[in-house]
Amino acid sequence: MDMKKINWFPGHMVKTRREITANLKLVDAVIEIRDARIVASSQNPEIDKIVGDKPRIILLNKADMAEDQVTRRWKKSLENENTLVLEVNALTGKGLNAIKPTLNELLKDKIARNKERGIVNYTIRAMVVGIPNVGKSSFINRMAKNAIAKVGNRPGVTKNKQWIKTKEGIELLDTPGILWPKFEEETSLNLAFTGAIKDEIMDTETLALRLIERLSHHYKERLIERYALEEFSEDPLENMDNIARKRGCIIKGGEIDYMRVAVMILDEFRSAKLGKISLEWPEVSDD
Ligand code: GDP
Repeated sequence: MDMKKINWFPGHMVKTRREITANLKLVDAVIEIRDARIVASSQNPEIDKIVGDKPRIILLNKADMAEDQVTRRWKKSLENENTLVLEVNALTGKGLNAIKPTLNELLKDKIARNKERGIVNYTIRAMVVGIPNVGKSSFINRMAKNAIAKVGNRPGVTKNKQWIKTKEGIELLDTPGILWPKFEEETSLNLAFTGAIKDEIMDTETLALRLIERLSHHYKERLIERYALEEFSEDPLENMDNIARKRGCIIKGGEIDYMRVAVMILDEFRSAKLGKISLEWPEVSDD
């Protein structure tokens, strides 16, 4: 496949890694956000190394657009001693009320130690990390919406860090750590399908064609239903042509308007008009 390479300046990666590592020292826990539709592709390749054994919550965000059963399997496969996983929707706030209890659980030893030392209302501090478009800003905004107050600069203590105080009493570092994605073909395709990287890796028509091809594995019925297809072909291009005809994406002379049909298919997928769709599954499942 002729795919343009996505660029992430190596110097930028070094700087980001350094910044996040420095910020880690200021927080009790990390809130890593991923896209529930592409849980593997929306992971930064170095995140485990960067976070180490720091307590971590992984938010499988946009769970409203992924298949519930698949998201649940991801949750199971990702959880371990230091990591707990929540299925959330940062736009509506669904699932976010579990964050405080989950942080309490992850930090129970620390909280108990503090209690012994007489600190009863310990304020948990966390930082948000994730690759672009997973919903970091939406999440921070949503949490801050109920904020009692935004804590200002505390020179000398936090070195100009701004903290957002949530109603639950958590303090979030107000600027998320923006990480880079993996630069692999499969990952790039998934990111492009979901719109995380704009249609920059290949032309829109090819991207839509690849999406039809992908969806025909597990979600053939959705395509048939959505576009009222009378027959489903082995050939994605033939399906694309049929979708175009069904939707009147035709130029004068009866030719297919590929740009129009491509944009339409991508838009409909990205706005979940094809229903809840998961593009990736965990490798092992103990279901
Ligand atoms: P960031 O780049 O990680 O800060 O991501 P944004 O917060 O800007 O979100 C990227 C896009 O995803 C925006 O269009 C949001 O409206 C959308 N978005 C974020 N969270 C959710 C969610 O839980 N569900 C849905 N359906 N869309 C979401």
